[in-house]
Amino acid sequence: MSMRRGVVLKSERELEIMQAAGRINALALCEASALVRPGVSTAAIDAAAVEVLRRFGAGTSFLNYPGPYPYPAVTTISVNDELVHGIPGPRLLKEGDIVSIDCGSVVDGFVGDSALTVGVGKISDEAQRLIDTTREALFVGIAQMKVGNRTGDVSAAIQAYVEAQGFNVVREYTGHGVGQQMHEDPQVPNHGRPGTGMLLRAGMTIALEPMVLAGTPATRVGEDQWTVSSRDGRLTAHFEHTVAVTDDGPRILTALEGEDLDAVPDPRYNSYFAGLPQPAEEHVGAPAGAGEE
Ligand code: MG
Ligand code: MG
Repeated sequence: MSMRRGVVLKSERELEIMQAAGRINALALCEASALVRPGVSTAAIDAAAVEVLRRFGAGTSFLNYPGPYPYPAVTTISVNDELVHGIPGPRLLKEGDIVSIDCGSVVDGFVGDSALTVGVGKISDEAQRLIDTTREALFVGIAQMKVGNRTGDVSAAIQAYVEAQGFNVVREYTGHGVGQQMHEDPQVPNHGRPGTGMLLRAGMTIALEPMVLAGTPATRVGEDQWTVSSRDGRLTAHFEHTVAVTDDGPRILTALEGEDLDAVPDPRYNSYFAGLPQPAEEHVGAPAGAGEE
């Protein structure tokens, strides 16, 4: 999934439409992830998301997305070593699995794109730490989505945070602009250098999506030609939000209930914020300013 159509700045009215799509997408992820338990098929989880989109009359940006063959579902569901683009089907979830669910909803031609990873029953400490780190990395990245920062500031913050926890970010797949197309410019990788890349401007809408591997960052594509897995077979996790850059700071368009920039991990407890040589102080500062009016 790598179609690129240039940077398109959105008006306030367009942001509101994207937020409508984003709310439906958030609910689809909520209802889909609420079904996750041992013995449930990934197809049943997909069906829960389909039902939400149908209920609100939203379209899907995933079904028939061009690739090796048109993508055949409304969500991608990726289990354990599967990182992204897993195709829902008869696979039954087992206690201890971790499941990444990604969905794209369309309202009035605008896309909301978001993803999360949840555990099935009781999961290992490492799996929980991987999930927590990936989700926190998303919010660390979002906090950098300020006018005047560059995409590299966002990428570097995500990479530094993840690597400080002993995990790795994917190299072959990136966050991306999103709007009337699911994939617009700019690309926002999960690795990079502060002060590089495209300047962030108000009206940019970006799907930021840390994809994190417990082992090495190498991936492979499966026999179905869609599913991307870790090459070493170790666990992976994926969180994503569609976020607007605004003059008032980043605005999460796909937020789940009660979720906002307060969810950024407390800098006091994060080695990322403690002893990092780079980036400079103003880049690693707490989300201060990011969510304030
Ligand atoms: Mg997505
Ligand atoms: Mg995406």
